[in-house]
Amino acid sequence: MLRADFHTHTSFCDGKNTPREMVRAAWEKGFTDFGISGHADYSFCDPGFGMSDAVLERYKQELFKLREEYRGRMNLYIGIELDCLGPVQSAEYVIGSTHCVCKNEEYVSVDDTEERLTEAVARLWDGDWYAFVRDYFETEATVYERTKCDWVGHFDLLTKFNEGFRHFDETRDAYLEPALAAMRRLNGEGLPFEINTGAMSRGYRTQPYPGPALLKELHAMGGRILINSDSHQADTIGYAFREAERLAWECGFRRVCLLSPGGGFREADL
Ligand SMILES: [Zn+2]
Ligand SMILES: [Zn+2]
Repeated sequence: MLRADFHTHTSFCDGKNTPREMVRAAWEKGFTDFGISGHADYSFCDPGFGMSDAVLERYKQELFKLREEYRGRMNLYIGIELDCLGPVQSAEYVIGSTHCVCKNEEYVSVDDTEERLTEAVARLWDGDWYAFVRDYFETEATVYERTKCDWVGHFDLLTKFNEGFRHFDETRDAYLEPALAAMRRLNGEGLPFEINTGAMSRGYRTQPYPGPALLKELHAMGGRILINSDSHQADTIGYAFREAERLAWECGFRRVCLLSPGGGFREADL
């Protein structure tokens, strides 16, 4: 199993554990590479959520210290998860994620609660989930242009509350066409996509993001992948990586990207 995870959160944003606890848990699991990617300032959508510039500075100082403590034992990477529509703050690496859509000058989080999202789709998109899907992926298509991210986080986060396709059918062209248009653009801009098991560990989904149909298409277009847990607590680091690796293999992938201590990506066999 892969012993590297680059999308995790700590108590500096909405995670349960401190960076020290997260890093220790990764080390105890035998991980060789571990990245922390706190949420950027998300106040424009959810007041008080994410790291202000001052908190980000303290976060980096804490992680620099931990990196020195673990030097020679585990590679520690200092990242940030930017939102497509949010402020562009910097760290050593950037995950580009789309957590919200702006409609009629209102920001709608797609991963907050099912009730809030359903209410917003009814009110702002006249209950047309496919119109909401189009707006989401049109936004997501711009994530590299806006954030200059290193890879795409949870590409189809808008499916968080769609297990069993209870709001929209992910096999229909009305879903797949805007999704694939965004994927083609971002892949063309050179970005890898992460397979993200976060909604599995939190009990929302039985499969990782992105869904298998999208993953197969990503492989067909020559795309690259990472595998990350999006852990918000120490006991879910590396969650369901075996299933994620199997799914990646079934979708045609044979290699996975990892961050390198010297910067950029290296690749490992699945
Ligand atoms: Zn996210
Ligand atoms: Zn995250």
